[in-house]
Amino acid sequence: MKALVYLGPGKKALQQCPQPTLAEPTDVIVKMSKTTLCGTDLHILKGDVATCQPGRILGHEGVGVVHEVGAAVSTLKVGDHVLISCISACGKCVYCRKLMYSHCTTGGWILGNQIDGTQAEFVRIPHAENSLYRIPEGADEEALVMLSDILPTGFECGVLNGKVQPGNSVAIVGSGPIGLAALLTAQFYSPAQLIMIDLDDNRLEVATRFGASSVINSSDGKAMEAVMALTDGRGVDTVIEAVGLPSTFELCQQLVAPGGTIANIGVHGTSATLHLESLWDRNITITTRLVDAVSTPMLLGTLKAGKIDPTQLITHHFSLDDILDAYETFAHAADTKALKVIIQA
Ligand SMILES: [Zn+2]
Ligand SMILES: [Zn+2]
Repeated sequence: MKALVYLGPGKKALQQCPQPTLAEPTDVIVKMSKTTLCGTDLHILKGDVATCQPGRILGHEGVGVVHEVGAAVSTLKVGDHVLISCISACGKCVYCRKLMYSHCTTGGWILGNQIDGTQAEFVRIPHAENSLYRIPEGADEEALVMLSDILPTGFECGVLNGKVQPGNSVAIVGSGPIGLAALLTAQFYSPAQLIMIDLDDNRLEVATRFGASSVINSSDGKAMEAVMALTDGRGVDTVIEAVGLPSTFELCQQLVAPGGTIANIGVHGTSATLHLESLWDRNITITTRLVDAVSTPMLLGTLKAGKIDPTQLITHHFSLDDILDAYETFAHAADTKALKVIIQA
């Protein structure tokens, strides 16, 4: 089968690979229909993710059809259409019992990282009964691809951890796919203000279309002044960090109101400064989280009811044969205006 293989920092190729086979009785083999690329895949290609070794098939998102089921799988059968969660979870270990699937002792984020992933014609899904979601035939598969990772990530790490409330003020630093996913799902709670901050005017224009109440281009270094002007000098109740740089984390610390919450989503590769000298008496909370994908059933419900339209995030389409072009387009988002790209397997 064809698959996109990581070959070491800066190197990848579309290669012929052996089709995956069942390794454990709890496994399922899925024939992929649609997958996508994630910012995390770009991190891997830079060599930032030590757990992902050369030879690995990338990808941790997508939808497909059950092709083969392990002997211990009773809730899924061949032919079922399924959504693949980016997080594999056994459902039985100490962390899974706390609904912290991201820290499952035999799972977590392993797909397209420690085991072969979804940018392929077929993929092996471990702990399949707890890591796949059956979807109705004929459901909008492209919308569902957004539920593998980015919507649960924006919602759980940003909106839930950030305690977004009706009537409150929210600022989201970073208007890429994850920041926009947080923007879409924050609206479940009707916050009074939803302020998006980014360096790219195109992405801010998208944010306005997605429901931001104000947008701020921070390239002049005056984002804090602009947010204070919008909030009577108080700052915001929730700041969501959706970039992963020391400077954006420091900006979040300047924007948070007394009693507020900074919810980090960004993947940080270097240390960032925590300004306790100005925050020690401000009653704030800082949260970190790797997505657990425990909100997937709830997000499926909102999608089914038409309460959210994640297809707005999709800007480009490619076939698996053209996945290298898809990577080029996705990696140069400032020029191509790419958000999420759909890859047809
Ligand atoms: Zn991802
Ligand atoms: Zn577990």
